[in-house]
Amino acid sequence: MRLDGIHHITAITGDARRNLDYYTRVLGLRLTAKTVNQDQPSVYHLFYGDELARPGADLTFFEYPGAVPGRAGTGMVHRIVWRIASDDALAFWADRLSNHGSEVHRGDGTVRFADFEGLEHELVVDSTNDEPLTAEHPEIPAEFALRGFEGVRAYSYHPDGTAAVLESLMAAGRRDHGRWEVRGGKRGGWLALDEPPAERGRQSAGTVHHVAWGTTDAEQGQWLERLNAARVPNSGVIDRHYFHSIYFREPGGVLFELATEEPGFTVDGPVEELGERIILPPWLESQRGQVEARLTPLPDPRADWPSTTPAVTSRA
Ligand code: ZN
Repeated sequence: MRLDGIHHITAITGDARRNLDYYTRVLGLRLTAKTVNQDQPSVYHLFYGDELARPGADLTFFEYPGAVPGRAGTGMVHRIVWRIASDDALAFWADRLSNHGSEVHRGDGTVRFADFEGLEHELVVDSTNDEPLTAEHPEIPAEFALRGFEGVRAYSYHPDGTAAVLESLMAAGRRDHGRWEVRGGKRGGWLALDEPPAERGRQSAGTVHHVAWGTTDAEQGQWLERLNAARVPNSGVIDRHYFHSIYFREPGGVLFELATEEPGFTVDGPVEELGERIILPPWLESQRGQVEARLTPLPDPRADWPSTTPAVTSRA
């Protein structure tokens, strides 16, 4: 039983409008769902991803309006690493991000930057054979688009404990450069540990809340059994509308989730309409008026696209 790399990553923003603008207009991701935090329906839960909203490229944000900037510390993920296709793509992004006011750090085969709230990202050239998960954008040639998650870098309270959970419970393989790779039949992704900073972390805007690893409905029950057999405290299976999830905290402090491929984002309607309206879980639908009234209105990020942009094609 194997996990299919990173399913999604969830972070926090204090400003849904700027967040939407940054991740769709600057980074070129697609807004794949606009919903509310199930545990707190007065705030948004925004989902960005590839054109078909597939696991592996799904970056989501809880909005806490006005949240102060946080800081990644021990027990937290501090950087999200994305795949791009080539060195030309690295050069494209270094230029594009600088032009949009980001401070860009170019390393050997990497481009590193942070969003407007300090959430760190890194782009690396894809050396896998995994299917590229790209979104369409009028200013970003397809060959330069982000292709999904490569990995995450984290700070652990207990590196040996983190390693033990990754290796013995999650079937991760230890790789060079302090990485653990989780790879299933469809995709892979890794977690790497870095030396934590002295300063304590603060979970707030611009920090990662949790990282989810991919599984299927068919195997999730067995993952739950495995966690329970190892006496790892966990949430049990929770219905997150787009997927089914089990949460647990690894010994180093990072919140992990095991999320299923099914049912996916087209549970709400056709792929062409992803992100267009606010989706509420069925039990909140009867309160739609009140829920929507409390949310900041967000524009359709594709409303001003030139009409020559190719129509979204269904490739699923
Ligand atoms: Zn999640």
